Amino acid sequence: MKPLKDIYIFIGPPGSGKGSLSHLCKKTFGWAHLSTGNLCRQHIARMTDIGMQIDHAIKSGKLISDDLMIEMVYQWIQEVAEASQGIILDGFPRTVSQARALDTLFSQEKFNNSTVTIVAMNIHDDNVIDRLRTRFVCQNDSCQAVYSFLPSQVKQQPICQECNSILIQRVDDKSDVVYERLKTYHHYADDLLEYYRSSVCKMIDLNVELPLDTVFQAFIESTGKLA
Ligand code: ATP
Ligand code: MG
Repeated sequence: MKPLKDIYIFIGPPGSGKGSLSHLCKKTFGWAHLSTGNLCRQHIARMTDIGMQIDHAIKSGKLISDDLMIEMVYQWIQEVAEASQGIILDGFPRTVSQARALDTLFSQEKFNNSTVTIVAMNIHDDNVIDRLRTRFVCQNDSCQAVYSFLPSQVKQQPICQECNSILIQRVDDKSDVVYERLKTYHHYADDLLEYYRSSVCKMIDLNVELPLDTVFQAFIESTGKLA
């Protein structure tokens, strides 16, 4: 088995397209992808012990505790690290304390040859609000595919093209929760990005207001990966 080499950390506000870009990278390069938000929603849908503990925080746009999050991410990385050439962390770390915990994990010998690249995804809040208003997601917790429709386009119940489940709007995409999530994001993001800018990690800045294909091309060019 090849050791894990490329670790990408996607940092961007809600609705910046972290999930969509991850999906393209996964399809193109075969990397493993962890969306901590999707993982949390799976726990809630399956009513696990963790799911019950985090339900309220998620629905109100607050972060869940660092300890719980770190434990879930550690477990996932241990499971996929040996089997993947590349991994994407989408939505983790979100705080400097989570970033420090990740550094501790990656200081283990088995990650000696890994490189960590931080991908900062830049978009104005107004565009985020517009995007989330028109976002629909697959209700199937193991799919969670993302779509965008104008309200006028939603004449009947929209269906997922990947798994035929019903598409819904996320409870935390309601406008008051979106404002809370943006507030939470901005509260932590500057310190987090500053932490990484003064580290040895490679940093990539992407303008994610552009169409997804263009964003993906820019990602490929900045990372030097050949699609
Ligand atoms: P997007 O809209 O692109 O999905 P988001 O960042 O708003 O981005 P998710 O990543 O899906 O949303 O996360 C949803 C919720 O899950 C967050 O609001 C938070 O409550 C919880 N969560 C996800 N990742 C973390 C984390 N690293 N630390 C703490 N809470 C987290
Ligand atoms: Mg997401």
